[in-house]
Amino acid sequence: MKRKISVLLILALALSIILTGCGCDHQWKEATCTEPKTCTLCEETEGEALGHNKGELTIGVEATIFNAGTKTRPCTNCGIALTTERYELVSYFEDGKFLFTAADFTKKYQELITSLDSTIYAKESSEEGGYVTDISFGTQNAGICFAKDDVALTYEEKDVKGIEEIVLVFSPQAALDESTAVAEAVILYFMALDPALTVEEAGQMCTNIFNGFTYNSEKVSSLEKNGITHTLMLDGSSNFAILTTLE
Ligand SMILES: [Zn+2]
Ligand SMILES: [Zn+2]
Repeated sequence: MKRKISVLLILALALSIILTGCGCDHQWKEATCTEPKTCTLCEETEGEALGHNKGELTIGVEATIFNAGTKTRPCTNCGIALTTERYELVSYFEDGKFLFTAADFTKKYQELITSLDSTIYAKESSEEGGYVTDISFGTQNAGICFAKDDVALTYEEKDVKGIEEIVLVFSPQAALDESTAVAEAVILYFMALDPALTVEEAGQMCTNIFNGFTYNSEKVSSLEKNGITHTLMLDGSSNFAILTTLE
């Protein structure tokens, strides 16, 4: 009888070990996106990992007129970036204002000169205190000025945003002596204002705006492309001026 009791005791003990596992007093760590609920002492797990939860696509690095940005889709639970994609600006304006400063524009114009292997030259300069992107070719030159709140931007304001109007000015003499360079300057001008344009499209716009001027008795020619309006006319000093405005 005594022997039978001890066997029962051993069985009971074995059973209790089976029932309580290793005998660990589990300390549970809640499940995460990638790991199930886990005991921090014995690493036993229960259930499954929760899995990531796709959030909204948000801007990680903001695109500029010079560089592409990134958009990431984070997990709403743990915040990890599930996907990251590159994006570029499709236009250089927002709410009736250009996104760049006058100094940025000159830099963009210079970048285009280099990338398209143009023979014209651009630098920033000050004329009567105003900021000008000074373009030179051969013996002639052209200038680009910027305005904000209907007032021309001063040189000191070259890093100020909020430009609403831009004007490219060149003399009839320049158009006569250096017509190819002027056309190039105009094509680069259109492209520096609109990243969506190809060289061919900008070239076509250049042809259209000059043809429009030639055949218009009022000597005004306007064209609209991708929300930007360019108007070619003669200014007060009988120079050619392409005035650029936004909707
Ligand atoms: Zn445990
Ligand atoms: Zn997650």
